Amino acid sequence: MKKPPTTRTKAQNHAAGRGPQTAAIHAGEPKRHGVGGPVVTDITRTSTFTFSSTEEMKLWAEGKSKAYIYTRYGNPTLAVAEGKIAALEGAEAAVVTSSGMAAISQALLSVLKHGDELISTAQLYGGSYRLMRDVFPDMGITTHRVGMDLSGIENLVTPRTKALYVETPTNPTLRLVDIEKAVGFAKKHKLVSIIDNTFATPVLQNPIALGYDMVVHSATKALAGHSDLIAGVVAGNKERIERVRHMVIYLGGSMDPGAAFLLIRGIKTLGVRVERQCKNAMAVAEFLEKHPKVARVHYPGLKSHSDHDLAKKQMRGFGSMLAFDLKGGLPAARRFCDRVRLFLLAASLGGVESLVILPIYSSHYNMSLEELKQAGVEPGTVRVSIGLEDAQDLIADLKQALA
Ligand code: PLP
Repeated sequence: MKKPPTTRTKAQNHAAGRGPQTAAIHAGEPKRHGVGGPVVTDITRTSTFTFSSTEEMKLWAEGKSKAYIYTRYGNPTLAVAEGKIAALEGAEAAVVTSSGMAAISQALLSVLKHGDELISTAQLYGGSYRLMRDVFPDMGITTHRVGMDLSGIENLVTPRTKALYVETPTNPTLRLVDIEKAVGFAKKHKLVSIIDNTFATPVLQNPIALGYDMVVHSATKALAGHSDLIAGVVAGNKERIERVRHMVIYLGGSMDPGAAFLLIRGIKTLGVRVERQCKNAMAVAEFLEKHPKVARVHYPGLKSHSDHDLAKKQMRGFGSMLAFDLKGGLPAARRFCDRVRLFLLAASLGGVESLVILPIYSSHYNMSLEELKQAGVEPGTVRVSIGLEDAQDLIADLKQALA
C-alpha cells in the first residue's frame, strides 16, 4: 500500500542558522509580515480538512499531495511546534505526540518488531522502564540493561539487537551516560540510537549533533514548562520521523491542537527558564550538600557528583533537577515532604513551580528493592524539580522543612 503523505504547512524553519532562543521564538512559524497578521500561532481547532475536489483527494491518497486531511495525520498548529523543536534539536524533522510515553513507545516501535532486542540503560524514567519490563516482552521484544558507564555493553549485542535507548541525565538520580561513547557503540553495531533528552532539554545538550538517530522528550516538562499539558515529541532525520509519524497515525498518539498551542507558547521562553532554573538548582544543591541531615545530594553541577566531569564535557549547564538522600531514610524523607510550604508535593517536573516528590511513590512505584537499587533510588530519595521562584525563598523553605 502506498503510504499517505506527510502533511506539512509552508511553515519553514526560517530561523534556522540563528541562535537557539531566536529559533525557539521564530522557527516553525509561517511568515508574519504585512498588515493585520496575528503575531501568535493560530489554534487550528479542527479534526478534519476540506478538499476542493475528488481529484485533490485522489492525489492525497496516492501520496502526491501534502494537503492536510485529518488532525491525527497532521495539523498546521502541530507543524509549528514540530518546526520549533526540530530547529532546537538540530534535527531535520520532528513529530509531536499526546504524551512523552507516546513519543517513547512510538519511536521504539518504529524500530522494533517481534523477535528484536533492545539495549537500554538500567536507570530510566520508571514509565519507560515498565514499558520495557511489562509490555515489550508480550510483544516479543527483549530488553537487555546496561549500567550507566556502559561497561560490558559489547556482551549484550546479538544479531537481533536493533536499538540502543538511553536517558541522560536520568530520572531521578541524575546519572549521566557518555553520549559520544554510546553513539560510537551504536554506530559500530548498526543500532538505531534513541535518547530521552527530557532532563537536559535542547538548551543544555543536542545529541543529534553528536550522532544520535532520534531524540525523545516528555514535552510535558521543560519544553511546555508550565505544568498545564501532557505532550511528547520525537526528533530525527526525515525518514525516521516519517516512520514514527506512521506509528503515531496508527497507534493514535497524536497531539491535540490546543496542547500544541500551549507547547509553542512554552517553548518561546525555554532558554530563559532553563538558565534561571540552573542557577536556582545550583544554589539549592549547594545548600543541601552542607545540611547536616542530608546524606547525599545528586546534582551533576556538584564536584561530589560521580558524573560531574562528564556533565562539564557534554552539557552546557547542569539542569533544573536534583535529588537527595536524607540520613533518616524514608521516615525523614516523608517528614520533609510533608513539611514543605513553598515547594509543592507533586509528580512531574520542568515547570515554573518548584516541586518535591518521593520516587518510590511516583515514577518508581511497583519496583522491587533490587530494581530500585539498580535504578539508584533509595526508599528515602527525594527528587526536586526547581522552578523560577527566588532562590533565597526556596532555601528558606528547605531549611524549615528539614529543621
Ligand atoms: N521521560 C522522562 C525523563 C520523564 O520524566 C517522563 C515523565 O515523568 C516521561 C519520559 C514520560 O512523559 P509523559 O508523562 O509526558 O508521558
